[in-house]
Amino acid sequence: MKLTDPLLFRQACYVNGDWLSCKATLAVTNPFDGSALGSVPKFGRAEAEDAIAKAQAAWPLWRGKTAKQRADILRAWSRLILEHIDDLARILTLEQGKPLAEAKAEIAGGADYVEWAAEEGRRAYGEVIPSKRPGMQPITIRQPIGVVAAITPWNFPSSMITRKAAPALAAGCPVIIKPASATPFSAFALAELAERAGFPAGVLNVITGDSSAIGDAFAKSPAVRGLSFTGSTSVGKELMARCSATMKKLGMELGGNAPYLVFDDADLDLAANLVPGCKFRNNGQTCVCANRLLVQDSVHDEFVKRALAAVQKMRLGNGLEEGVTTGPLISPKVVKDMETLVKDAVKQGARVLCGGKPSPLGGGFFEPTILVDVTPEMRVFREEIFGPIAPVLRFADEDEAIRLANDTEYGLASYLFSRDVGRIWRVASALEYGMVGVNETALATGEAPFGGVKESGLGREGGRQGLDEFMEYKYILLGDLARR
Ligand code: NAP
Repeated sequence: MKLTDPLLFRQACYVNGDWLSCKATLAVTNPFDGSALGSVPKFGRAEAEDAIAKAQAAWPLWRGKTAKQRADILRAWSRLILEHIDDLARILTLEQGKPLAEAKAEIAGGADYVEWAAEEGRRAYGEVIPSKRPGMQPITIRQPIGVVAAITPWNFPSSMITRKAAPALAAGCPVIIKPASATPFSAFALAELAERAGFPAGVLNVITGDSSAIGDAFAKSPAVRGLSFTGSTSVGKELMARCSATMKKLGMELGGNAPYLVFDDADLDLAANLVPGCKFRNNGQTCVCANRLLVQDSVHDEFVKRALAAVQKMRLGNGLEEGVTTGPLISPKVVKDMETLVKDAVKQGARVLCGGKPSPLGGGFFEPTILVDVTPEMRVFREEIFGPIAPVLRFADEDEAIRLANDTEYGLASYLFSRDVGRIWRVASALEYGMVGVNETALATGEAPFGGVKESGLGREGGRQGLDEFMEYKYILLGDLARR
């Protein structure tokens, strides 16, 4: 790993303040060249249940701390994450593949979520409700829900953890994190820093292993009062069904199929130059990636010409190398998926403007691809692509643009480019999405609520709403107050 602080590279689970190993292990490889990076414990149901019991035991101590005491520890965690950003980014790039600059941006964004949650935890106000009955006073207080289980994906191995864990911890809940098996080392490094920041034993735990068995243990345990999941819609639905037996709070950050609407009055250079960042960031493997570029007829050709020029500046390679803009896909299997999607579109009449095939670099590399003449019948329109293919469609007017944009079961991020404030308001209001970027694509930030509607999920992460996921309102009615 060649880290300045070698202790950040841990190959053991972190439970109740102890680093635990077991005989069965999972191998972790570098997606750039398939080389071995290390291995992590393959925990199952029994170990997950043990972690739940330890977290439950730690709850009274953690919820008994003042919000300020919890905030101080969270702020220390955020500071430590930033102090070790170079090592953390190196670990992230090695296990996930994204370029170092993107890895650093993710770590910094993750630290920002922690700082925001630390501050927001101190503002978990209740209410004094005006009473309509004399001598009575209704009030509400907010309390932590209890043990929270968090299951996270490989595409953002660090910030998807801090975005869930930090508000839960700030609210007063202990957390058990199950990171993706492909990218566990970022999670263990965060746990090492959490220990140094001063979280008491059992308050923050990280376990790796059999995702189905661990997920089932989380779902079925009555002690787990909240399950926060980020990943595919199919696994999210499965977990939701399993959780119904214990009626817990659910946070579901699932898949997307983001439309990127370019109207005839848009700043075309702005819209075209944001395509590499919005569509191809993390090699197209983000839930908020533009999945469909919808462009008004009269500016279609010019926009496509400029977007093509912007995409052709991208450089594929090892994420550790200076100047590389795009690392490998998470596995060579995704290259095959991309080939199949392109073939399906071309068979139905789409044209490949660039890319469309595996890169000569081999392994997990597929050339950045722009497809034109795409139609809603094609798989690239209907499915979350999760790779470097940008399908382009035409629309005639605002109504058609909205209809095409909403023609999906997903509803996470959407983008629109226009300079007309009336149109911006009309379209942003009509889009069936949890988030709309207007002339801007960098949506995720600590102070704003991130999340989707429809089959993109439930709940919000970040913003003042982020804390709500991990707290319950308790209504207390004070009676007989008039009697002396
Ligand atoms: P995934 O296959 O659903 O896996 C996500 C997590 O769930 C991993 O930790 C995985 O563990 C675990 N898992 C898999 N099967 C499980 C099961 N049966 N029970 C319990 N846990 C299980 O998703 P992914 O491929 O890692 O991530 C890509 C997806 O995440 C995309 O759809 C993307 O849009 C979505 N995503 C959404 C957001 C958002 O904020 N809305 C953010 C990022 C990503 P293993 O790795 O050990 O199998």
